[in-house]
Amino acid sequence: MSIPSAIVHVALHTPSHSGVGDLLSYASAQPLPPGTLVRVPLGKREVLGVVWDAVDATGELPEGAAMRPIAGVLEGVAPLAPPWRRLVAFAARYYQRALGEVALAALPPQLRDLQPDQLARRLKRPAQAQGATEDAIQTIALTAEQESARARIASETGPFLLFGSTGSGKTEVYLRCVQEALEADPSAQALVMVPEINLTPQLEERFSTRFAPRFGSQAVVSLHSGMTNPQRLKSWLAAHSGAARIVLGTRMAVFASLPGLRIIVVDEEHDPSYKQQEGARYSARDLAIWRGREQGAKVLLGSATPSLESWHASDPAMGRYVRLAMPSRIGAGALARVRRVDMNQQPRRAIFSAPLLAAITERVARGEQSMVLLNRRGYAPVLHCADCGWKSDCPHCSAHQVFHKADRTLRCHHCGYTVRVPRACPTCGSPDIHSMGRGTEQLEEQLGALLSEVLRPDRTPARIARIDADTTKAKGSLEAQLAQVHAGEVDVLVGTQMIAKGHDFRRITLVAAVQPDGALFSSDFRAPERLFALLMQAAGRAGRDAAYMAAQGSQCEMWVQTFHPQHTVYEALRKHDYEAFAAQQLKEREEAAMPPFAYQALVRADARTQEVAQGFLTAATAAAHAAGLPGLEMVTLFPPVPLTIQRVANVERAQMLMESPSRAALQRFLAAWQPVLQTTRSAPEHKGLVRWLVDVDPLVI
Ligand code: ADP
Ligand code: ZN
Ligand code: ZN
Repeated sequence: MSIPSAIVHVALHTPSHSGVGDLLSYASAQPLPPGTLVRVPLGKREVLGVVWDAVDATGELPEGAAMRPIAGVLEGVAPLAPPWRRLVAFAARYYQRALGEVALAALPPQLRDLQPDQLARRLKRPAQAQGATEDAIQTIALTAEQESARARIASETGPFLLFGSTGSGKTEVYLRCVQEALEADPSAQALVMVPEINLTPQLEERFSTRFAPRFGSQAVVSLHSGMTNPQRLKSWLAAHSGAARIVLGTRMAVFASLPGLRIIVVDEEHDPSYKQQEGARYSARDLAIWRGREQGAKVLLGSATPSLESWHASDPAMGRYVRLAMPSRIGAGALARVRRVDMNQQPRRAIFSAPLLAAITERVARGEQSMVLLNRRGYAPVLHCADCGWKSDCPHCSAHQVFHKADRTLRCHHCGYTVRVPRACPTCGSPDIHSMGRGTEQLEEQLGALLSEVLRPDRTPARIARIDADTTKAKGSLEAQLAQVHAGEVDVLVGTQMIAKGHDFRRITLVAAVQPDGALFSSDFRAPERLFALLMQAAGRAGRDAAYMAAQGSQCEMWVQTFHPQHTVYEALRKHDYEAFAAQQLKEREEAAMPPFAYQALVRADARTQEVAQGFLTAATAAAHAAGLPGLEMVTLFPPVPLTIQRVANVERAQMLMESPSRAALQRFLAAWQPVLQTTRSAPEHKGLVRWLVDVDPLVI
């Protein structure tokens, strides 16, 4: 073996929560450029690492310690470029995580597991690509609104917020902007993100049809967690090598290595799933904005109901984003007419009000489809004993176990704990136990009974189907069920919000939210915003095919059953007036100094007892004040409180909120506080602490 002649600093995923400065030094036979993928020994294991720029190195080798040599270099994979490394370093710093953790989590799992020789074989496999051609891409003529958006995106730097109604042709604008970027430069690449895995196949189809004839069959790849590890590696390598011109993916794709990145699209940018809720809790939308600016790529956010953050940023008075409006639906398809049913006027305990049931019946009789939404799966949220008051509480969580009738189980949706439904009350033995409230399973059952006499145009009975997390557990089952809806084999579709997003159903003419009020009174200040976006999006599922609507002579409708018909959310929904809703919400937020007028972070602590969890947070706060940490003068630290669902799987959870009018001050404070939190944790009185974590720009409070 040759004599090591160079020192390299390597980012790797060290097992413990070891703080931010976690580059380790290794010896190498020759200098390696930053970004090189290497395998290195770590304790008794050998792990993947990324050679990092020496300037970031903080860890000094302990006195007298011999430096271990790297185990090998992953030949054939070009070093990760500086913009990628800067993105990872920024994300680690901003979201208060270890650099190595973020870097390694951003790479495909197989890259971590394959030995260099295995990878070399993988790289040799010939790709059976259909070559690129000079054929012109088939396009359709843009509407005036689309054309004006396209022209501004082409001529200005952005970032852009494409504020377009559902069905206004936003996707067509994305396609056209991506096309222009790729045609302008043979090495250009595009990143297109969508919120849900199940929306990628439809989008991939659309992009492939458009671009494969011109750029080759390998030009469009997907990147999301629903893929197998070999598939993910293949897509990742194609993007990294530049062979893939377009990457379609979910939030994780924001970290794809794209050396030629020129344009980033974030579709449905308001969707909460762009925020990662485990590990490094990053916002893929916010990172997209940062990455675009850093790497010189245009960023295009699109939504019919933008997040209030993006809406505010695109206010001409703020001028941070360029707002582009596309209010009209393509083909002059009318937006759904909103019908509110005042449930105060309906018989108590009715799931379906008489007018809604009549409307659904009519649609079935005409051969049209309806969609019924309820955001709670299972049959009923709780079982209850009429004699002693027993409730089906989960023994491990501060939550009820949900009654699932199909398999006669009580299941906790937080920890998964499942038992058979008891025949009698486990406390007093009474057989008089009942379900309270309702979920999608019950909705499906009741609808079946209510529509049992209703016939379709061909005199056959109505067909009801349910789509939620319970019916789609098996791989491919969601696709199969969606295909049934598309094929017209379903008359009434019941489901959770899973079915409200993005799907291009052609024959749905009625959408109903049967019990949406819960979100109006949530302690989470973003709940109304989320509800409004969901209802607008759900409404957008109806009447998508203008020609079909005209042929049917039918009008599309969005029904809302509510005890608060005058609520702002429903008033704005009735008028399809996002702008009025946003203005009203932003005014409230400004008065209360809440985001986007303030910046927030949370620290959460999990422990065996609530006292230990809160005690840790209180002690860390006291230590912060005692040390007079930088930024603290502009940051408000609120007292620790239990989470809404305080205990999950026997772990007590507490959190505390931090708020500041200055993002920079909050960042300064968090960076300085990190080591203080570490030290506090190791104090003996906090022994019962299981974990703690920081959530910057939290979406759920
Ligand atoms: P959005 O993404 O805003 O919901 P889409 O881009 O999916 O809207 O467009 C809605 C429908 O209109 C699609 O079926 C699409 O093919 C069609 N469409 C979009 N732009 C045009 C256009 N310029 N001319 C004709 N049809 C269009
Ligand atoms: Zn009882
Ligand atoms: Zn539980």
